[in-house]
Amino acid sequence: MIDTHIHADSRSGEDFRDMYLSGIDSAITCSYYPYRIDAENILLNHLNRILEFDTKRAAEYGIDLKVALGIHPTNSIAKNEMIFESLHKWIEEKRIIAIGEIGLEDLTDLEIETFEKQLDIADETNSKVIIHTPRKNKLEVLKVILDIVPQHLDENQAVIDHINRDIIGEVIDKDYMLGLTVQPQKLDVAGAIDILEEFGFDRFLLNSDMSNKPSDILSVPKTIRELERLGYDGSEIEKVSHKNAEKYFMI
Ligand SMILES: [Zn+2]
Repeated sequence: MIDTHIHADSRSGEDFRDMYLSGIDSAITCSYYPYRIDAENILLNHLNRILEFDTKRAAEYGIDLKVALGIHPTNSIAKNEMIFESLHKWIEEKRIIAIGEIGLEDLTDLEIETFEKQLDIADETNSKVIIHTPRKNKLEVLKVILDIVPQHLDENQAVIDHINRDIIGEVIDKDYMLGLTVQPQKLDVAGAIDILEEFGFDRFLLNSDMSNKPSDILSVPKTIRELERLGYDGSEIEKVSHKNAEKYFMI
């Protein structure tokens, strides 16, 4: 199984052990710095820590950690050239599999500028992006995201994450990959299965978005096991268990 969106830097070795024991082989960790940033090198340290330290920490417990790095909207900073140069370098060296998570939260000018710049880097380097949609004003912010992305990048190079029933109508007819985040206060197992039942398994990635916020580190295995228990076709389940992620991110 692959958990397609986690924040490994804020989780313990014990969590990695329990994920591994529950059948998770691999996870994609995204950048998000939950503290105040008053200089670019603080954010750069955060990104380097994920790349160099958290991958090793997860590997010690059996988890093959893939890395997506970028500037999360709530981490937008005015001076960011060093980060963008580093993104180019990490993509070239194949050390990251996507730019993420990026997106919009409060729709400030700085957020929008930072988002657009990262979409351009993805376009120049033919990379995938993982796009966060916020908890509050989700529909309003998503509409801005859907307006901006096609001006910079092919829709099929972007995952729109944290999709739920309220917003799925906005994206289901477009070419994006869609992330279902099974996490307290977002979507529960039954809610995720309900969406898969109605819209099919081909376009979706499953994840826990485990972070420093309330999370269920086993939400992906729980969803997969529930799909099995309910008798869904094995080849369909495999798509959201790992195959869609492997194909999409080429991992
Ligand atoms: Zn996240």
